[in-house]
Amino acid sequence: MKEIILVKNGELTLKGLNRFTFEDALVTNIKRHLKAFGDIKIQKAQSTMYIEPLSEDFPFEDALERVGTIFGIAAYSRCCVVEKDFDKILETAPIYLAETMKSIKTFKVEAKRSDKQFPLKSPEICREVGGKLLQSFPHLRVDVHNPDEVITVEIRDYAAYIRAGQLHGAGGLPVGTAGKSAILISGGIDSPVAAWTMAKRGLSLDAIHFASPPYTSPRAEMKVRTLLSKVARYCGTIKLGIVPFTEIQQEIGEKCPEEYFTLIMRRMMMRIAERLARKQNCLALITGESLGQVASQTLPAISVTDSVCNMPVFRPLIGMDKEEIISISRKIDTFETSILPFEDCCTVFTPKHPKTRPTEEQCALAESALDIEALVEMAVNGTEFSFIN
Ligand code: ATP
Ligand code: MG
Repeated sequence: MKEIILVKNGELTLKGLNRFTFEDALVTNIKRHLKAFGDIKIQKAQSTMYIEPLSEDFPFEDALERVGTIFGIAAYSRCCVVEKDFDKILETAPIYLAETMKSIKTFKVEAKRSDKQFPLKSPEICREVGGKLLQSFPHLRVDVHNPDEVITVEIRDYAAYIRAGQLHGAGGLPVGTAGKSAILISGGIDSPVAAWTMAKRGLSLDAIHFASPPYTSPRAEMKVRTLLSKVARYCGTIKLGIVPFTEIQQEIGEKCPEEYFTLIMRRMMMRIAERLARKQNCLALITGESLGQVASQTLPAISVTDSVCNMPVFRPLIGMDKEEIISISRKIDTFETSILPFEDCCTVFTPKHPKTRPTEEQCALAESALDIEALVEMAVNGTEFSFIN
């Protein structure tokens, strides 16, 4: 019995003439995600993709789990392929669905007939297949309102497909179709969620992390790598740049008024990140800021960190509560890593009374003793790159 994974494309079906570019990107991404599971063939038709394994021992369950991480997919299911002959469909359904049917009490059948030449109409298909299943599994009952399982028979161009249930896809747009941006990644809860949220809109990602050894430990850096590898399950390989930040923080500590430490540090981060991002053809920065969460995320504070940067800064979590952010971090499996207690460079040199209503003029004055250009240059030149899969 031939089985495939049937994929329903998400939002990209709305893309008009551009649709093909988006579909091609999705095909490429599916191949990349499933490469480790063996050879596959992918066919496109009618807002759908058919993923056909070419090996006998294809690990369907592992592959299905992975398909759930691919952006651009609205829904997906494992199903069996049958010739478009109604007797064959009736004969195959109870055999293919046996295990599922034995484990449930109620079901309903839905039919989708995109091949309008097929001799039976959808209600007839439902009635006949439903009858056959009831006959084969006498313990079952039909419940059209609240069934334990929905059985679907789809009659499409080249074949018929039988399946039990359907899984929700990751949604969004295929990674890469929106270009590339750089996520400022800390070891916290927020930035990995911000990264995932923007990858979902089709961005591929580079990452930038500011490290301040010996104030921050190698374990903090490992934590960032682990978080990125979890995000990379969704968006593919991420190029990570680790910026040496110790000297800059020390200079800020020596030369600037204490209540501005965090703000000036964040302004330096944005300047350095922008320079690195441009070098790597990223068109925007992404941060995990959320309005009002901490002193450096009040509106005046965000305003003075934004003003030093001349590229778009995406802050996808800006309007989210911590609870909402945590629920996404649990879903994408970054939460447990994020709460490991390793210090971030932001927690070094934290002012006792941070300025919460800074103005641009005050910040410019507070950082006037720094040779900003030289510090940015030094940080950019000292950045070390590696790839996270
Ligand atoms: P997170 O949970 O992402 O660490 P946070 O609530 O701790 O965020 P901040 O420490 O103020 O907030 O950082 C705000 C944003 O600045 C982070 O979401 C991240 O995008 C960026 N950021 C903070 N620290 C670093 C760092 N060491 N390297 C790179 N980016 C950082
Ligand atoms: Mg943080």
